[in-house]
Amino acid sequence: MSVLLTLLAAIIASGACAYHRSSLRTWAVTTIVVTLVVGLLAGAPRTTVVLLVIELLIAVPLLMIHFRRKNISAPLLKMFAKVTPKLSDTEQTALEAGTVGFEGELFSGKPQWHELLKQPKPELSVEEKAFLDGPVEQLCGMVDDWQITHELADLPPDVWEFIKKNKFFGMIIPKQYGGLGFSALAHSAVLQKLATMSATVASTVAVPNSLGPAELLLHYGSDEQKNFYLPRLAVGEEIPCFALTGPYAGSDATSIPDFGIVCKQVVDGVETVGMKLTFDKRYITLAPVATVVGLAFRLYDPEHLLGDKEDLGITLALLPRSTPGLEIGRRHFPLNVPFQNGPVHGKEIFAPLSTLIGGPHMAGHGWRMLVECLSVGRAISLPSNATGGVRMAVAATGAYARMRKQFGLAVARFEGVEEALARIGGLTYATAALSRATAAAVDRGEKPAVPSAIAKYHATEWGRTIAGDSMDVHGGKAVQLGPKNYAGRAWQGVPIAITVEGANIMTRSLMIFGQGAIRCHPYVLKEMKALSIPDYSERLKSFDDALFGHIGFGISNAVRSFVLGVTGARIGESAGDAYTRRYYRKLNRYSAALALCADTFMGVLGGKLKFKEKLSARLGDVLSYLYIASAMLKRYEDTGRPEADRPLLAWAFHECMWRIQMALDGAIRNFPVRPIAWLLHVLVFPFGRREVPPSDRLGRRVAAIITAPGEARDRLLEWTYLTPTANNTVGRMNELLPDVIAAEPVERKFGKAQKAGQFTSHDYIGQLDEAVKAGVIDPTEAALLKRVREGVFEFISVDDFDPAELRSAVTRADEKKISDAAQRAA
Ligand SMILES: Cc1cc2nc3c(=O)[nH]c(=O)nc-3n(C[C@H](O)[C@H](O)[C@H](O)COP(=O)(O)OP(=O)(O)OC[C@H]3O[C@@H](n4cnc5c(N)ncnc54)[C@H](O)[C@@H]3O)c2cc1C
Repeated sequence: MSVLLTLLAAIIASGACAYHRSSLRTWAVTTIVVTLVVGLLAGAPRTTVVLLVIELLIAVPLLMIHFRRKNISAPLLKMFAKVTPKLSDTEQTALEAGTVGFEGELFSGKPQWHELLKQPKPELSVEEKAFLDGPVEQLCGMVDDWQITHELADLPPDVWEFIKKNKFFGMIIPKQYGGLGFSALAHSAVLQKLATMSATVASTVAVPNSLGPAELLLHYGSDEQKNFYLPRLAVGEEIPCFALTGPYAGSDATSIPDFGIVCKQVVDGVETVGMKLTFDKRYITLAPVATVVGLAFRLYDPEHLLGDKEDLGITLALLPRSTPGLEIGRRHFPLNVPFQNGPVHGKEIFAPLSTLIGGPHMAGHGWRMLVECLSVGRAISLPSNATGGVRMAVAATGAYARMRKQFGLAVARFEGVEEALARIGGLTYATAALSRATAAAVDRGEKPAVPSAIAKYHATEWGRTIAGDSMDVHGGKAVQLGPKNYAGRAWQGVPIAITVEGANIMTRSLMIFGQGAIRCHPYVLKEMKALSIPDYSERLKSFDDALFGHIGFGISNAVRSFVLGVTGARIGESAGDAYTRRYYRKLNRYSAALALCADTFMGVLGGKLKFKEKLSARLGDVLSYLYIASAMLKRYEDTGRPEADRPLLAWAFHECMWRIQMALDGAIRNFPVRPIAWLLHVLVFPFGRREVPPSDRLGRRVAAIITAPGEARDRLLEWTYLTPTANNTVGRMNELLPDVIAAEPVERKFGKAQKAGQFTSHDYIGQLDEAVKAGVIDPTEAALLKRVREGVFEFISVDDFDPAELRSAVTRADEKKISDAAQRAA
């Protein structure tokens, strides 16, 4: 017994030090003292001596720094250099681009929550609010999405004009160049609101404000280029596009075969150094209407007119549309969301060196320029458009499910529909928080490489889920296209968001964990960087520091993961209020589990992990859900911990935790080295998988929130265009919603009388009159039922068309030709 007690005391002392991340010295002193005191008091001198010898054998060599470096770190450094995969320049650039924010804490296994909660609450300025309430509101009022998507396959001229005149294309351009100089949050809010009315308008506005000529010029342009282009871009005098993708280079954008050869040509009688460019680009947004084309190509200098190097690498230029030989103007047709998109071609066309973004000294730096700017644009455009879409789904589906009656009940009352409504509400809460947190990171000056990938992937994936649920709840109403259908086009266009700016499968499988593991991990990048230090003793010192920090980190995460698993995350550091404290602790648990699994996977599989995409995708999911859950908790704090939002927060939080559990379990179950997988399973899930998806009861509360007006619903519908204008069916549905709800008890009284066969009339209005006469309802109640029935009829109605209206113009022309020929033949 005394032996066991001494052993246990030594283990607990070591475990406590590891849990709290004490230094090696503190661990050595604590463990030795505890072993000595407990061993002697318990009367186990022999065990005490054995344990002390073991402890000293571990502690002394590790604490003798010079000995440790020479005999432990040096051989490990050699091994590490051999097994570490050589990074390509592309990968190196991607890894070095961007900054690390709170996501780094989530990868630490011990997040410092005060770092998150002390971040200022993101808010719009007075000017930005006025823009949302002014020009954005006006633009939303002008949009007829059916006209855009079916009749014109383009924005009408007045909408183009309004967008340009009000500087929608200049949101990220600073005021000194005539732009709006908006914050990322305002930029996001504008896109969200536009997306609630038209995906085509939102995409058109998003592109010039995302990765493209303006962003690139702001960061790398020469003064001359900035002064010329930025004021013109701000007011839409120039319409930009950016052409990177081609038939042979989609996701693998660095493999572009498009090229330029540095050469001399006589231009206007003057010999000019320039480039002969050959390129074949496709899918380029705004290309058909662009006046200036940003172009990515590989530049070669065989005559060494620029320097010694022949293959300069990926280079970016800005070509005016008037450049002789530049072919643009034809259009692609992206899934009935007809924003301008098309191919761009050129064969051996000449462009002077002055067209290079940033000038000739930036030749060959194109990939770095793109990657450095990518995270900012990606953090805003697609997450915001998706968020606008899901907010509108809440407004539309919540109201429709309350007013659409079947089997004598609002369809929202059926449990099957309730399940879909709960997903719509809960995931919208999560998407909105994610989008806001990522925009706020940009406003803090971060270049959020990892969060932008998380936001792009999850906002668009949840957009896809919610669009599907919304369609299902609407039934045939959303299937029949026409001006009255407000849901179909949004659902049709979902795959566009999934594909662009990093197709989602690749973003999940390769980017989130791939970048996150190296960029956010506190030691991996340091270890990798140590390898490239030229001086050996410096290299060894840096490697030794990182390595032993890393080992301590790994042990601590194993202990934390196990302890928090055993206790069901009921102990430990936390933040928040009585309601959310437990949530923070759960995040602590899974943060430690992620760090432990990431280290183990990287340590055992090394460079092979890069090709085990199914494993890295799952670990990326864990990081993502930790980030999203943190964003929701921050949002809850920023809004003053509103009680009304708790069902939404709870639903989304439990969904995230359940998904984390499934992702971790999947990763561990499929880890190829089985004994390590078993050990990980014990450390991560000591009592098995205990998380459960949000309960049906919670789902019912969320469904209730989105189907009735209220403060929590209002917050979900922030930046949603709900003005009940003629072009906004959903706005008008929401205007009628309070009446629909007020009519429900009256309908029950009326329905009872109907069922009891009290009325002789077969007509609804006739029955209302009879109900009033019989005193079943009073005249005001009858008027309410009549008003609601008429209102609802408008919203459940769908369009029908003359067959000729649905044929494309080309078909109609062909038919005429055929009938003319038939007549001639007759
Ligand atoms: C409507 C629209 C607008 C666009 N606008 C522009 C624009 O303005 N400018 C521009 O330059 N480009 C633009 N693009 C291009 C867009 O960014 C690319 O389509 C995108 O990068 C994907 O390339 P791809 O379509 O050729 O798919 P592919 O690269 O052929 O990918 C096919 C599938 O393979 C997956 N995949 C590829 N590599 C990996 C990997 N390593 N691991 C796991 N999965 C992988 C992808 O996720 C995808 O699911 C646009 C595209 C569309 C559809």
